[in-house]
Amino acid sequence: MDNCIFCKIINKEIPAKIEYEDDEILGFYDISPQAPVHLVFIPKKHIESIATATEEDFQIIGRLLFQIANTAKKLGLDQSGYRIVNNMGKDGGQTVFHLHFHLLGKRSLLWPPG
Ligand code: 5GP
Ligand code: ZN
Repeated sequence: MDNCIFCKIINKEIPAKIEYEDDEILGFYDISPQAPVHLVFIPKKHIESIATATEEDFQIIGRLLFQIANTAKKLGLDQSGYRIVNNMGKDGGQTVFHLHFHLLGKRSLLWPPG
């Protein structure tokens, strides 16, 4: 997708520190970390948001969540805990319109979110 910053990261047109990659999924470090560990996981397929994902897309999304949990374990977050966040639309605070899940860890996170 033209002009999508995350598609440009997938295509290596924009550099990112990649932690996980396979044929369908990319996990990389957020440019503006909100916790000591802050990664963003995206499907390589351009899907605008969770709201526009098709039933078929949820197969990739399921695998993506599995790889988030695997990566969290690899980074040693599974004992202390972590948070997975998906922001959707204006009220959800979504700023990049390529579906993504944040993985945040290595600090105690507040609830409810702001
Ligand atoms: P959203 O606010 O849409 O849920 O999350 C978008 C995230 O993408 C933000 O946390 C933002 O810091 C991150 N981000 C935006 N542009 C870039 C970039 O060029 N590189 C990386 N690594 N992260 C980015
Ligand atoms: Zn995209």
